[in-house]
Amino acid sequence: SSSGNGFPNFRRKPVIIIVVGMAGSGKTTLMHRLVAHTHIKNIRGYVMNLDPAVMTLPYASNIDIRDTVKYKEVMKQFNLGPNGGILTSMNLFATKFNEVISMIERRADQLDYVLVDTPGQIEIFTWSASGAIITEAFASTFPTVVAYVVDTPRSEDPTTFMSNMLYACSILYKTRLPLILTFNKVDVAAHQFALEWMEDFEAFQTAASSDQSYTSTLTQSLSLVLDEFYNNLKSVGVSAVSGAGMEAFFQVVEASADEYMDTY
Ligand code: GDP
Ligand code: MG
Repeated sequence: SSSGNGFPNFRRKPVIIIVVGMAGSGKTTLMHRLVAHTHIKNIRGYVMNLDPAVMTLPYASNIDIRDTVKYKEVMKQFNLGPNGGILTSMNLFATKFNEVISMIERRADQLDYVLVDTPGQIEIFTWSASGAIITEAFASTFPTVVAYVVDTPRSEDPTTFMSNMLYACSILYKTRLPLILTFNKVDVAAHQFALEWMEDFEAFQTAASSDQSYTSTLTQSLSLVLDEFYNNLKSVGVSAVSGAGMEAFFQVVEASADEYMDTY
């Protein structure tokens, strides 16, 4: 049902997919792969880049923050360092975001998805006022989901896995949007271990107990908390490099968009 969201002209399409994740998790490479997949499968997508500081992108974007805001000039004009420059550029772009939303609305009949790439440093998007404004503008107009990209090989260590999941948890509670744990780089390490840890917190505790450091008791307690968090999540394994998991990814996006329509 689409009656729950309370917005009179709310549509089921396009679905906005906001791609977030730690620096190096593979967001940009995954965007490239997703774009290629939409072309092959005749899925109608729009691509948006929200990273003002990126030099070159491997994919062509329809909407690019760099067309509106010149990051280097913003740094000079306001006498800012790199992070301040990115943040201020996002703030400037956020003030014009209603124009971006209108543009997508005008093309809504021709679009299935809008893929959104975010700045390399995750907190610049997830913990800034402009990130919140942009997310809210999307979510009040279109079904919106968050793809949280995980560097799977780097998460095989239980403590690192836990930290990554806690971060994902904070994003879920901050955005209140359906969150897709997107285990990337499965060409290097399968995400089976993650599924097992999420399914069975005792399996995770066993893995964590081999770590004798003081954090392991904390890790074990937190795993109980995360058990509840996992119940509210969908997950999928992908490889931006090999292309594995693309069909599954879009299936999970569809299920998440349905969840969005039922919830909001
Ligand atoms: P971002 O900072 O999250 O945008 O990450 P990038 O897309 O720039 O990727 C960071 C690094 O991870 C690059 O060296 C990519 O080639 C690599 N990478 C990204 N996705 C994959 C993947 O699925 N498999 C492998 N093996 N490497 C990947
Ligand atoms: Mg990137």
